[in-house]
Amino acid sequence: MTDLPPNTSASQLTTYAMCGRLYFYRYVLHVEPEFRSLNLALGSAVHSSIGWWFQEKIQGHQPTLDAAEKIFSADIAAETVQMPIRWKNQTPDELEAKGQALVRAYLSDYGDLPVVGVEQRFEVDIENSDTGEALPRPLVGYFDLVVRKGDEIVEIKTTAKAWHPQSILRHLQVGSYVAAANTLHGGPARVVIHAILKQRTPRVEEYPVERGEPDNAWFFHAAKSIESAIQAGHFPPSPGPTCIECEFGKACLAERGAVAPVSRLRKTNRIEQVSCMQLAI
Ligand code: SF4
Repeated sequence: MTDLPPNTSASQLTTYAMCGRLYFYRYVLHVEPEFRSLNLALGSAVHSSIGWWFQEKIQGHQPTLDAAEKIFSADIAAETVQMPIRWKNQTPDELEAKGQALVRAYLSDYGDLPVVGVEQRFEVDIENSDTGEALPRPLVGYFDLVVRKGDEIVEIKTTAKAWHPQSILRHLQVGSYVAAANTLHGGPARVVIHAILKQRTPRVEEYPVERGEPDNAWFFHAAKSIESAIQAGHFPPSPGPTCIECEFGKACLAERGAVAPVSRLRKTNRIEQVSCMQLAI
């Protein structure tokens, strides 16, 4: 495949694990999504408001919760005008109030964290700690918050439900952060997931992970399998309950015959005819 991104990421690995065809539309063809997910817009605005708060503190300022809520309001307005949103049964005012409550809940509990870095970019090889084997594409990402001496990573998630502790053992995003933190800071990596629960009264659950490279072997083997399938051009659909939320649902349903209808869609980068053979139907 010549059109793959030069790097992989936790988002790419997770997207491919969800659905190969979704990956193909998003990362290979760069098809413009049919709509923006409400949850993605909300999560992005919550992240940027919390990031703003800690940037202010790093610069020696004393931000207020009211100011953080205003930042959220500006960010969610920007997120929701960029492309069509599926509002379902929510109004823009309800979404704004919900997001402000999430930001306030998080900063009330964790606003005094000794953060030394925000949205810190990393680029590392994905390596097998036993054999030294490295995958062809490096792993690129951003640590949400870097804490204390720079060796503790905090990842913030907005989520409808609490995580089951067992799910963290087989989690591509957690595995990615652990792999990056081990490579950059030496092991065992300390990564703490802060899950902001989108409930009537929001609250934050904390999931600490302390894991050295040998304990992260599941991630290496999962990433290797996924990266091998991507490099080989296998992008099968994975139909299931989440299809009704898929941002490429119409394009996927319209796939027929020798030339994929996706070629008739607007794309962010380029337009070309795509053989359905490439879609591995
Ligand atoms: S609609 Fe379902 S099968 Fe089709 S691309 Fe989206 S997630 Fe995959």
